[in-house]
Amino acid sequence: MVYYAGVDLGATNVRAVVAESDGAIIGVSRNETPNGPTGIDVTEAVLATLRNAAADADVDPETIRAAGIGSFGPFDLAEGAVIDPANLPDTVDRIPLTGPIGNLVDSDRVYLHNDTNAGVIGERFHSDRNPDDMVYLTISSGIGAGICCDGQILDGWDGNAGEVGHCVVDPRGRLTCGCGHDGHWEAYCSGNNIPKYAKLLAEDDPTIDTDLPLEDPDFSAKDVFDVAESDELAAHTIDQLAHWNAIGVANIVHSFAPLVVSFGGAVALHNPDEIVDPIRRRVEEMVMSNVPEIKVTDLGDDVVVEGALASALTEGTGDRRRMHN
Ligand SMILES: [Zn+2]
Repeated sequence: MVYYAGVDLGATNVRAVVAESDGAIIGVSRNETPNGPTGIDVTEAVLATLRNAAADADVDPETIRAAGIGSFGPFDLAEGAVIDPANLPDTVDRIPLTGPIGNLVDSDRVYLHNDTNAGVIGERFHSDRNPDDMVYLTISSGIGAGICCDGQILDGWDGNAGEVGHCVVDPRGRLTCGCGHDGHWEAYCSGNNIPKYAKLLAEDDPTIDTDLPLEDPDFSAKDVFDVAESDELAAHTIDQLAHWNAIGVANIVHSFAPLVVSFGGAVALHNPDEIVDPIRRRVEEMVMSNVPEIKVTDLGDDVVVEGALASALTEGTGDRRRMHN
């Protein structure tokens, strides 16, 4: 028997799964992502999690034929490592992944992807139609896309393709993005920035009634969604979010002609009625080309680890024709 593995390295948790050659998962493991102190400590935690998943499946790691990894970046793709991640302390300058995982499973078939690319690979693999053209879009603390176009997963030469959260949607540039530039999509619509946007809308029109805790330092996106039905400012904010989100999605549709746009990330997963449904309605009116299916991922929080596994099963593509049963 040969086996396949998927690893999801996130800012909070590292997860691993081991599966049989048809994709059936037989072992799982999860640990907290260590806060350094060095990148090697993070690598060791990834290896320990993968070893535990193999033990859970009762298989020897060396019988794993291929492994996929979905991880936060940025990457040195040639070295198969994460470099200077923003979400870990400065002492974490390099997290080697491809080499150490290849040594553990005794295979050079190790595929490293950013988490949104792992997402599109998982969505493609698990979609009935297994489409060659689709986009996975995450709306969480940031916004980003994994793009599959003509059957190719787009990385870009430096691995930064799909950073669509930093596309300008508001030419007036009223809000400044965490990256320092003005008017970017995620400056308005990411989970971290929705509270700032609600405050701006309240200043624009002080006649709008609200009980939102605008001045509370803990004011969060969840506060807005919790009163979507009953608070006038919350409803107005959600309506405006739909406007920017639909512009962003229409730009993606015109750029890549996907058959399916699949949403993940905490903001979309927890608020499909407030976030995804309005995008579906508006995008139809905004595109001159074919309107894609717009949906929420069926894989929920598992989309990245499932995508990493799907990558291992399909030589980094999510294309089911490339499975070796
Ligand atoms: Zn930006």
